[in-house]
Amino acid sequence: MSIYWSERTRNLEPYVPGEQPRDRKYIKLNTNENPYPPSPMVLDAIRKACSEDIRIYPDPDCDSLRETIARYYNLKKEQVFVGNGSDELLAFSFMAFFDPCNPILFPDITYSFYPVYASIFNINYKVVELDEEFSIPVEGFFQENGGIIIPNPNAPTGKYLDVGLIARIARKNPGSVVIIDEAYIDFGGESAVKYIGDFKNLLIIQTLSKSRSLAGLRLGYALGHEDLIQGINRVKNSFNSYTVSRLALAGAEEAFRDEDYFRETRRRIIETRERVSLSLKSMGFKVVDSKANFIFISHPGVKSPVLFKRLREKGILVRHFDKPRISDYLRVSIGSDEEMDVFLDVIGKLLV
Ligand SMILES: *Cc1c(COP(=O)(O)O)cnc(C)c1O
Repeated sequence: MSIYWSERTRNLEPYVPGEQPRDRKYIKLNTNENPYPPSPMVLDAIRKACSEDIRIYPDPDCDSLRETIARYYNLKKEQVFVGNGSDELLAFSFMAFFDPCNPILFPDITYSFYPVYASIFNINYKVVELDEEFSIPVEGFFQENGGIIIPNPNAPTGKYLDVGLIARIARKNPGSVVIIDEAYIDFGGESAVKYIGDFKNLLIIQTLSKSRSLAGLRLGYALGHEDLIQGINRVKNSFNSYTVSRLALAGAEEAFRDEDYFRETRRRIIETRERVSLSLKSMGFKVVDSKANFIFISHPGVKSPVLFKRLREKGILVRHFDKPRISDYLRVSIGSDEEMDVFLDVIGKLLV
């Protein structure tokens, strides 16, 4: 606390990211990074972009990348916004579409950045309670609201909401923007992108951080009606005109070209997820059905904070959220097969 902080700064409760340790080598299953490297074509493109041109500002409109993304999703360039990681896009969207007095809706168990954005932008919110199985009760979003945001699949549960139900939510709320945060959609779910032409209020946000192994590059994008995209653009140009670096633009374009590589790494992660889920179930774990690159697990015999601590001592990092309803759970990112074999071995021994 400092006397120099503004009232806004004093009142903030910032998001706490998963740790990125430097003290020793861990098996990192705590921040949902992809265990596989990005496509070699992406790295080549970044290396090539690393030239003297870096003294010049990047294209503020990211035209070339937006065209590539538009083509990939069969949209128009005007329906695509590109930003410096999807977290930044989410922040811009809160500013662009939500007003302070009219409460927005999101699930009670969800990405913990949403209440943080609500607090920094003074936006009121109401939570919609998930059922016992962590499923989203769609009717909860059929009430008066100033906006809606839902991750699909949800975080940190990994549960997927059928894309047809997303369409129902968008249809029932023509007066407010419905944001679907699809950070994990590539791991087995179906994107709501196909409804963009049907609903002017639907905004889809995706990222290259998870399914395309580019968390360190920082690139996210939003897809929606051009009026929505223009709204985000107004906010962005009031903060910083050059959010996406030359290197990120170059790498991202290549990521959309190397489709074979993308499909292969995605397939491997899904396969590992299913295999690890089965093994954990046979050890007595409850494993929430996941369509993400992580699983949400709990064991009736051993408390999660204890498991968390013991795993850490053995060099394995996972995530524990000390929050109502989910404090009995651990979120475990899906690593490579070798990493997950070590994880299964260690956790099996901790149970006996
Ligand atoms: C990881 C994650 C993001 C953020 O991704 P970046 O593009 O790396 O900023 C957004 N939403 C959810 C639900 C996430 O888990």
